[in-house]
Amino acid sequence: MTNPVSKWNYPTTILFGVGRIKELPGALAASGIRKPLFVTDPGLAKLPVVASTLAILDAAKVPYGVFSDVKPNPVEANLTAGIEVFSKGGHDGVIAFGGGSALDLGKLIAFQAGQSRPVWDFEDIGDWWTRADADRIVPIVAVPTTAGTGSEVGRAGVITHEASHTKKVIFHPKMMPAIVIADPELTAGMPPFITAGTGMDALAHCLEAYCAPGYHPMADGIAVEGVRLVLENLPKAFHDGSDLIARANMMSAAAMGATAFQKGLGAIHSLSHPIGALYDTHHGMTNAVFMPYVLAFNREAIEERIERLAAYCGIEGGFDGFAARILKLREELKVPHTLSGLIRDLDMDAGRKELIADMAIVDPTAGGNPLKLTKEGALRLLEDAIAGT
Ligand code: NAD
Repeated sequence: MTNPVSKWNYPTTILFGVGRIKELPGALAASGIRKPLFVTDPGLAKLPVVASTLAILDAAKVPYGVFSDVKPNPVEANLTAGIEVFSKGGHDGVIAFGGGSALDLGKLIAFQAGQSRPVWDFEDIGDWWTRADADRIVPIVAVPTTAGTGSEVGRAGVITHEASHTKKVIFHPKMMPAIVIADPELTAGMPPFITAGTGMDALAHCLEAYCAPGYHPMADGIAVEGVRLVLENLPKAFHDGSDLIARANMMSAAAMGATAFQKGLGAIHSLSHPIGALYDTHHGMTNAVFMPYVLAFNREAIEERIERLAAYCGIEGGFDGFAARILKLREELKVPHTLSGLIRDLDMDAGRKELIADMAIVDPTAGGNPLKLTKEGALRLLEDAIAGT
């Protein structure tokens, strides 16, 4: 190896543990937020977990507004509506409360409310930020209620551009939440399907980050422990949602996956993004469908790494043993084995397949795949996931 050169980022303050949601008023004060907009999704807004959190704010006499018009895989209309409520309410910060969709949209409202340029101008903008752009971003306190995306410890927000059916990633260091409250009890109400899909998202992040090329031993270390935590705890959380130890370990694994994936992701995500944008499927569940096909596809480049990972996780049989464990986990979690199990009435003609492959190879995650993801390779993976081979 030549002298390694790399850039490492680590997350923010995380108040971790059952019951820590009670510290929300203190977290707001510490972040300089006096009048937050509470951003969540409509499903969550009806659940006791939101009512009990708002009661904490009421008891502390925190003035707040609520915005819950956030669809899964949020779109620009959600952002525009959220910014309007933010501005009219005179808010000075955001509580992003929910799964990845509400967290991302909350972060994007905090990012975009003060900007004069359209949000799409900020996609992949690199370091071309003006000081004024950055100064307009208001602080965020993030409260995850799923354990998967790790958006709570990320500097990015994902939003679907409906006209082009693409998921865009908007990034800025100041979109990193000032404080995260990671209270595993908030995830206890997740139904098994969401527990499975979000947990497999955390696994996909850890696995792809670990397999991505590049020098990042800290991300690698975080990723292997994240994989172990998911393998040991996701089945427990799936079968018994009230198991708070399993929920806590999954919440850790989610934050670890998102910390590790600064190293890169790969073809699981490159294919999952266009499928999610075109068919509105659940992100984590889509990753879960592609996972074994991508593992097999990358085998020659990752065999030795996966053998080390398998040994660390106590799995016998090297690469084959690890691949078999992933298949068994998917089966136990009732993850569909094929795309047609995920998307009802799947009818992909040749043109649609080409479009998905074209979108996959230009997805920002494609560069992190251990083998170069060509159009032929993306088409093969798509065919594999359709046929279940
Ligand atoms: P989600 O936020 O879309 O939520 C899925 C469903 O779960 C919703 O109906 C929601 O109401 C429900 N839900 C959430 N918490 C619940 C709880 N505690 N109890 C009961 N129901 C609950 O799902 P997600 O998988 O967390 O997020 C997916 C989104 O995150 C996608 O838009 C994806 O693109 C994005 N994402 C972002 C990043 C990032 O780094 N920012 C990473 C991966 C994915």
